[in-house]
Amino acid sequence: MKHNPFRSAAFLTSAAEPRRLPADTGTEIAFAGRSNAGKSSALNAICNQSGLARTSKTPGRTQLLNVFVLDGGRRLIDLPGYGYAKVPEAMREQWRRAIDTYLRERESLRGVVLIVDVRHPLKEFDRQMLAYCRDIGLACHVLLTKADKLARGEAARTLALVRNEIAAAGFDASVQLFSAQAKTGLDEARGALAALLSQS
Ligand code: GDP
Repeated sequence: MKHNPFRSAAFLTSAAEPRRLPADTGTEIAFAGRSNAGKSSALNAICNQSGLARTSKTPGRTQLLNVFVLDGGRRLIDLPGYGYAKVPEAMREQWRRAIDTYLRERESLRGVVLIVDVRHPLKEFDRQMLAYCRDIGLACHVLLTKADKLARGEAARTLALVRNEIAAAGFDASVQLFSAQAKTGLDEARGALAALLSQS
C-alpha cells in the first residue's frame, strides 16, 4: 500500500467565520459540495479515518468551517454543504458571504476540491463554484463520487462529458471518478490533493 500523507489528518477546530480560522500560513485546500453529494465520506476515505468528518446533518454542525491539520503546516478545510434544506435563508446568505470572503482572501488556500455526485453532474452550485474559482484564479479538483452507483461505461461517459464542459467553460479544473464506498480513485485523489497542497 502506498504511503498516505492524509492519514495524519486530525480535527483542529470549527470556525464560525473566516477570521476565526488558524493563522493564514502554510497551505490548505477546501472541500466544497452540495449537501449529500458525499463530501464527508470522501474526506474520511481520503484520510482513511472513518470518523473524521461527521456525516451528521445537524445544522449546528454543518454551518462551520471545519479545520483538519496534516503535517508540514498543511490543512484541509471542510466548507458547509450547500443547499441544506433546513437552514434558514438568512443563514444561507451569511454562509455564502463567509465562503466568498474565505475563497477570495485566504492566502494559504491552494485549491478547492469540489465533490459532485456522479449521477447529478454539474448542478448550478457546482458551475458557480467553478466559475468563481476561475475568476479568482484558484485551481479546482472535481471528484465525481459515488461512481459505484453507475455501470463502468456510464461512469466513463459522465467523466468525459464533465471534462468537456469544464474545458469549454475555461475552468482550471481536473476531474476524476471516485467512490468512497468502493474505495476507487483514492490514489488519484490523494495525488491531486497533495499536488495542490505543495504549490508554493
Ligand atoms: P455530505 O453531505 O456531502 O457530507 O455527504 P455524505 O458523505 O454524508 O454522504 C451522503 C450519502 O451518500 C450517505 O448516505 C453516504 O453513505 C452516501 N455515499 C457517500 N459516498 C458514497 C459512495 O462513494 N458510494 C455510495 N454508494 N454512497 C455514498
